Amino acid sequence: MKLDLYGSLYRRTWQLRAGQFGREIFRRADEMSRRERLTANALKDFQLEQTQALLIHAYQQVPFHRARMEAVGFDPFKLTDLTQLERLPFMTKEELRAEGLHLVAQSYDPKSLLENASGGSTGMPVKFYQDQAYTIFNRANKLRQRRWFGYQMGDKIAYLWGARRDTRIKGFRHYLRQTLRREHWIDAFDLTSRHMLEFKNLLDTWQPELLVAYPSALQAFAAYLQNQGLAVRSPGAIECSAEKLQAAQRVVIEQVFNCPIYDVYGSREFGVIAAECEQHNGLHIFADAFYLEVIKDGHPAQPGELGEIVITCFGNFAMPFIRYTTGDLGVMATEPCACGRVLPRLAEVVGRTNGVISTPDGKLVHGAFFSKFFYDLPQVKRYRVHQIDRANLDILVESNGHFSPDQAAALANQIQTKLGESIKVSCRLVSNIEPLPSGKLAYLVSDVPLTFIQKELG
Ligand SMILES: [Zn+2]
Repeated sequence: MKLDLYGSLYRRTWQLRAGQFGREIFRRADEMSRRERLTANALKDFQLEQTQALLIHAYQQVPFHRARMEAVGFDPFKLTDLTQLERLPFMTKEELRAEGLHLVAQSYDPKSLLENASGGSTGMPVKFYQDQAYTIFNRANKLRQRRWFGYQMGDKIAYLWGARRDTRIKGFRHYLRQTLRREHWIDAFDLTSRHMLEFKNLLDTWQPELLVAYPSALQAFAAYLQNQGLAVRSPGAIECSAEKLQAAQRVVIEQVFNCPIYDVYGSREFGVIAAECEQHNGLHIFADAFYLEVIKDGHPAQPGELGEIVITCFGNFAMPFIRYTTGDLGVMATEPCACGRVLPRLAEVVGRTNGVISTPDGKLVHGAFFSKFFYDLPQVKRYRVHQIDRANLDILVESNGHFSPDQAAALANQIQTKLGESIKVSCRLVSNIEPLPSGKLAYLVSDVPLTFIQKELG
């Protein structure tokens, strides 16, 4: 271990520098950590109290929610059991897109809120709004989760990730800024051999305490290191999210990096929702922050039965999410965890919607990469990126009639520029995008297996 004076100073002064905001994050994280050791009944009481406060607020402040409650004769003041929520309709991404600012509570000024967006089931981004109280809730929840593997605020983190504006900026000043901030970002959308070697050197010399990555990107990186016969310094822990972590990936990654992997399930709407503890036996649901249901055919799935994950969030009063359908599939576990935490578990989260494609020059490209190009194109109703063969990408666009072939060509051009010349990008307008045989309106489809990974692994 290197002597890290800057690091210990940074950690010790983090709260001071962040002021009131930072103190609040720590206070909330401490409360959350304590709740993990409540009795099951006390946790239930807490959930009921939180849910009722949210529902009453939504009833009084959001006409959309009030109308829905009244339509089914639901009185939030009379809530006595969480199962009563089953009478309320689900809230979908499509409704979120259609209602927009109408879902913001009337006592909040929309101009004071932060706008955020996530990819919907059709790949079209959905906008939603959060306030500073949500930011504190979200960061406290994240901190409490990372404490499970000994992380402290201010520890060094290396990200093999995308969706961040400055991942592509290079140069010494950029390096210095990231070093001072104790976060290095390597673009998972641009994973060439040269960048993987740079990343290996970063792990060896900068020595982060935590590595955060997409499983598929990390698997490709691990395969590269194995192929080249390179050993890498082990980070203290690895956190994977955004895709399902496959058992085979876990084996390879743990071997190469010689440290445990913690699988995390989260979303742009809610931050971290469930995560593995040191037992690595399913994902604990942060049940003091969310009421999570697994729904099959409109009703709660049986334990062990696959269903859609539906979330009621206790942390966003600016724009209440009540029984929000995530599009993710999961299975509830029944047995308590050996770690002793009271938080219930998902045995598994499957079918996360973001896929990945590989290009002939070895880049792994995630679904999120494409959805960014559609953020400001309200004329586009839905789209599908289809990799026909290794060198050809066909983008289908279904519009509301106000998207011209010229605009489609310009869009193809933009994406082509980012992806490079090894793959040919075309874009065309179609009248209707059909669901896949599975019934899913997938927005990233590839007929090409991930040969890059398979080749490197084999
Ligand atoms: Zn546990």
